[in-house]
Amino acid sequence: MARHIGSVCKLCRREGIKLFFKSDRCYTDKCAFERRAYGPGQHGQARGKVSEYALQLREKQKVKRVYGLMEGQFKNTFRGAERQKGITGENLITLLERRLDNVVYRLGFAGNRREARLMVTHGGVRVNGKKVDIPSYSVNANETIEVSAGRKQSPRIIDNLKTSERRGIPEWLSVDRSAVSGKMLRLPRRDDVTLPMSERLIVELYSK
Ligand code: SF4
Repeated sequence: MARHIGSVCKLCRREGIKLFFKSDRCYTDKCAFERRAYGPGQHGQARGKVSEYALQLREKQKVKRVYGLMEGQFKNTFRGAERQKGITGENLITLLERRLDNVVYRLGFAGNRREARLMVTHGGVRVNGKKVDIPSYSVNANETIEVSAGRKQSPRIIDNLKTSERRGIPEWLSVDRSAVSGKMLRLPRRDDVTLPMSERLIVELYSK
């Protein structure tokens, strides 16, 4: 499946939840979901009986979109979660949260995950002092993540850091805003993620 290039606000309306794809705008009354909290298109307000399969598919689409993954990438992450010890659904969320693009976003260096991914692929992020340009890189506990020296004073990054104060930094990360640097204090856990997600439905979908 190709990457979505249309209106990202329609995705929030389709999934029935704010997914925060834009930075500042998501927190204002200009947010499209705040103004029209129903699905996009002609049948957006129609209510019908929803099958179990449709629920599972919607949940998978939602989580996949939150982290900006394509179908194959998402499925590979799921298979990785299955191979780990523990509960597959929780492993899945942990693996998604550990992605370098997600960590850059959570630290507030980027306004959204899409911007974070670009920052990483363009070589603007260092992990333990070394350039890492792979957005799916899985960050480990005690690793430091920082923006490359040439970009630290970029107005966009300064702006992103200010905006991120509003959404806060998760407990499993620490950030030094003046150094545009952060650290993963421990691995993220399922209960660290507050966005409503039912990973059980995704496990059921892929178990068919
Ligand atoms: Fe979603 Fe609202 Fe942000 Fe658009 S502005 S991406 S609808 S949260």
